[in-house]
Amino acid sequence: MRLEDIYQNQKPVISFEIFPPKGEKIEEKIDVLFQELKTLSKFNPSYISVTYGAGGSTREKTLDLVKRIKAELNICPTPHFTCVGLSRPEILSYLENIQKLDLNNILALRGDPPKGEEKFVKPKDGFGYANELVEYIKSNTDLNIAVAGYPECHQECGCLDEDILNLKRKVNAGASVIITQLFYDNKFFFEYLDKTKQADIDIPIIPGILPISSYTQVERIISLSGCKVPESLMKKLEKYKDNKDDIKKIGVDYAVEQCNELIDNGVPGLHIYTLNKSEATSSVLEALNL
Ligand code: FAD
Repeated sequence: MRLEDIYQNQKPVISFEIFPPKGEKIEEKIDVLFQELKTLSKFNPSYISVTYGAGGSTREKTLDLVKRIKAELNICPTPHFTCVGLSRPEILSYLENIQKLDLNNILALRGDPPKGEEKFVKPKDGFGYANELVEYIKSNTDLNIAVAGYPECHQECGCLDEDILNLKRKVNAGASVIITQLFYDNKFFFEYLDKTKQADIDIPIIPGILPISSYTQVERIISLSGCKVPESLMKKLEKYKDNKDDIKKIGVDYAVEQCNELIDNGVPGLHIYTLNKSEATSSVLEALNL
């Protein structure tokens, strides 16, 4: 099903993000991942998005997972794709592979600069920004396109208003849905909705939710995404940081509160970053007023 139709039908749409396992014993890890996804399938996710490793490091694995999700779970998969290091012909060939799998949707991203490089350098005959990639996908395929949004502003952009103008370029180029970076303070998301509305962006904006499941994870998230964790939550996490079960409970309780407030405010969906595990996501979804 196409993303634009998914968000027309039911509210709130539940969707998940997973990533291709890395390291040793990949086959075993993938089997474990599918067990987790089978557990999560009882929540009837409308789609599962599969990340594309930085710099294309999981190019084939992303598509293998997508195939298996479709065949084994009968859930609509949405591959992520970045244009890092690729020329137009290479992008076109990847898009052709996606279409051969009979998929409807793609999450189109520019991607981060390759490791060791500070700035994103446009590849030869490639693209410098996601809006160019969206335009290219739109004119060469029939795929429905999701793009990324940043309620707390993309880290490279010093000004949220400017970042939203750049988001608008992606919408004008043909994006149908915006999925946001994770955040923990709904205030940023609601302000983002106001600002995107003022910018005449009228496609669904889906909050990205990551239930906190460990203290070290919080430190990593803050440094990677730059998102702010509310002081009251941070204090609780610090107080119980040596007790893993307490941290998990605080994370789930917080995510439930956060999602319920989003649902009460009419969000079209919740996109949950599962980190390939079912436990926290299941606990959150079971507790929601869906
Ligand atoms: P863009 O929209 O191109 O924006 C990048 C920066 O350039 C922003 O600061 C923006 O304000 C500015 N900008 C945009 N267009 C223009 C323009 N035309 N002129 C001037 N400035 C402009 N990364 C991966 O490697 N793999 C993944 O699977 C992946 N999945 C993600 C999923 C989600 C939901 C999100 C939120 C992020 C994901 N990322 C992923 C991270 C993403 O690749 C990075 O955040 C990357 O730095 C930006 O990608 P983008 O598509 O948002 O870029």
